[in-house]
Amino acid sequence: MEVRVRYAPSPTGLQHIGGVRTALFNYFFARANGGKFILRVEDTDRDRYSDESLQDLYDTLSWLGIAWDEGPVVGGPCGPYVQSERFELYRKYAEQLVADGKAYYCFCSSERLEQVRNEQQVSKSEQQGYDRHCRNLTDEQRAEYIKQGIRPVIRLKVPMEGKTTFHDVLMGDITRRNRDVSPDPILLKSDGFPTYHLANVIDDHLMGITHIMRAQEWIPSAPLHILLYEAFGWDPPVYCHLPMVMGKDGQKLSKRHGSTSVRDFREKGYLPEALMNYVSLVGWSYDGQREFFSKEELEQVFCLEKINKAPGIFDYKKLDWFNGQYIRQKSDAELLPLLLPYLEKAGFVTLPLDDSHAQLLATLVPVVKERLKVLSDVVDLSRFLFEEPVYAGAQVFCGKGVDIPTTYKALDQAYALLRSGLEEGREDTILETEIADLAGLLEIKVNGVFMPIRVAITGSSVSLPLFDSIHLLGQDKTFARIENALAILKSEVR
Ligand code: GLU
Ligand code: ZN
Repeated sequence: MEVRVRYAPSPTGLQHIGGVRTALFNYFFARANGGKFILRVEDTDRDRYSDESLQDLYDTLSWLGIAWDEGPVVGGPCGPYVQSERFELYRKYAEQLVADGKAYYCFCSSERLEQVRNEQQVSKSEQQGYDRHCRNLTDEQRAEYIKQGIRPVIRLKVPMEGKTTFHDVLMGDITRRNRDVSPDPILLKSDGFPTYHLANVIDDHLMGITHIMRAQEWIPSAPLHILLYEAFGWDPPVYCHLPMVMGKDGQKLSKRHGSTSVRDFREKGYLPEALMNYVSLVGWSYDGQREFFSKEELEQVFCLEKINKAPGIFDYKKLDWFNGQYIRQKSDAELLPLLLPYLEKAGFVTLPLDDSHAQLLATLVPVVKERLKVLSDVVDLSRFLFEEPVYAGAQVFCGKGVDIPTTYKALDQAYALLRSGLEEGREDTILETEIADLAGLLEIKVNGVFMPIRVAITGSSVSLPLFDSIHLLGQDKTFARIENALAILKSEVR
């Protein structure tokens, strides 16, 4: 039997970490089993649908390098793969259920349903939801409603007795009493639109889906889906509901924890291979040890047996670490074009690069590579090369516990050493030791000497290594900035 799995998102928002994790698990499972990965767009909820979300779905999958074997754009034998293009089909199947006595027309007005709801609330009745008013209408009653021009919905006849059980690969057997399943849910709305349940089950069947991997929040819908399969006389697929994705605090991952949309991660400069690798480990592991996997490796080793039952924790710090590792694996030539958009957007360079910028960036990339967590970090780390620093007063030059007069003295003496050292072409390490020795003479910490130099040159107390920064910036600008800093400090020394 060929494995056929699907990712079936509703384009009602940006693709988020949880959704992409579902997509990846399905994709890797298909590849590992020589099966097919199908993309299906579940856009039946027209109120929440947006073109932007649909585009974001395509962009996200293509950024991750996840190609679907069947689906929108590429087509396939079970198309169309966009539910809004399949409406006629759902109507046909829903009416077939009515003809078979498994579903029925309901003519209740929204006013009547609301009244039922209110009465249930007041009487605190055990019966909640639809009261099955139209379940046993006579042919005459039905004809009368139709004559009045009322357009009915179609509801599933959920059995009042018995239980429904389904098997989940991770959770085992899950059983629910039929009377606890929602009372006769709507399958087809009066405007002919299907509900999620109807369209989802029909499509999974018609598209030959063998395994359903989806978020655990869909478990409550599964008994209803099983009842639908039974009503149609179809065999349900294998279910594997995936563990939740949580933040470190054990709460469902949400905006409170940080970015959750893939677009955000992409814009900040996470690499697709890093995000893919890390997200694959949220709720799945290979042997509990190995962490690094390329896409090609995951396509081979992914298996359902290693999915955890426990929720997966999405750890932003760990993702940063992964991303840094993947960045450092890139050659300078690979990294440069990935950084350019950020530098361009910051207004530091214009493309195509002129010779002097090309040269500068060729020197910058290896220095900055060691320090990037995300690609966009390059902006703050290299700002000093493209903009003159702005110093907020003399205090910014002072190391911890060092006063302005001492800082002035330290910078003044360090400058003399630096200037002659650089002009004579002395080695960085020797020069660095000489400057560090000033700290002893001035009876301050080494940081008290280097901080003013660093801040003068880069405008920031965190920066690339000092001598790398100096060489990138060039001697003239370096000296000019230090002199400027000295002037600011001096003005505050009386
Ligand atoms: N359209 C549903 C969603 O957005 C699909 C759920 C399922 O996989 O059955 O998650
Ligand atoms: Zn009714």
